Amino acid sequence: MAENLDPLRGRVAWVTGAASGIGRAIAYKLAEQGARVGVIDLAEEAALHVAEKLGGSAIACDVSDAGAVRSATRDLEQRVGPPDILVNAAGIAHGEAVAGHDERSWRRVLDINLTGPFHFTREILSGMMERGFGRIVNISSGSGVRVGAGAAAYGTSKGGLIAFTRGVANEAAAAGVTANAVAPGLVDTPMTRQAMGDAEQLASAARSSDIGNPMGIVLQPEDIAHAVAFLCHPDSRGITGQVLHVNGGSLMP
Ligand code: NAD
Repeated sequence: MAENLDPLRGRVAWVTGAASGIGRAIAYKLAEQGARVGVIDLAEEAALHVAEKLGGSAIACDVSDAGAVRSATRDLEQRVGPPDILVNAAGIAHGEAVAGHDERSWRRVLDINLTGPFHFTREILSGMMERGFGRIVNISSGSGVRVGAGAAAYGTSKGGLIAFTRGVANEAAAAGVTANAVAPGLVDTPMTRQAMGDAEQLASAARSSDIGNPMGIVLQPEDIAHAVAFLCHPDSRGITGQVLHVNGGSLMP
């Protein structure tokens, strides 16, 4: 039997954080597989650029702002349609020790990385359940499972996101809606370049024993997009409440 090359034809996918890095690669991948894509990001111009390239629709939205998410939802429902797929990839990195941790930076990390996915899921979940099909994928992190020093806020947001994913998975399971998390290891994106330096420094980190992986590879955003597309595939209907680690083997829970 011929393989269906555009398994997401006729589906609508909303991707947050789709103007850059992992979210952008996911948006391209889902569009390549036939989905009509809503590109959601704080960075308006970059989001427009991505939407233009993949023939989707862009919307500027701060995922931590409940009101902005509500109006973005109404707007995207009109422009691309209600989502069959929601990927929450918008996020920020943050490093700070717990002793003396700044209150505002703690809240900011949780507001974006954890409450952001809650905001979008809250808006779209009942529609997905009524239509009897849905795929929700939250981009967590290996740091949500193994939290290094200085990563308490980030790790808490990403570990919380795994718990949130499982709560959603249980609530929506009987309606044909799955919810899973993808937990990337070290991926070459603007976020990691800013935190860790150029390609050479990333490559050496990938070979180091503390944050590296046995494959010694720096993952690319497309590696994460591939895992997300797998979970969004109509045939992945039996996979829910799971965490798919894509990390070159750095963490084998
Ligand atoms: P990135 O900085 O390249 O992209 C993040 C995107 O999110 C940007 O376009 C940014 O504008 C957007 N964004 C940030 N705050 C936002 C907000 N409040 N509202 C809407 N959009 C917002 O980073 P990335 O590396 O591609 O990260 C994507 C996701 O993957 C994040 O959730 C990150 O925590 C996670 N992650 C990344 C890595 C890695 O190694 N890069 C590893 C594990 C997990």
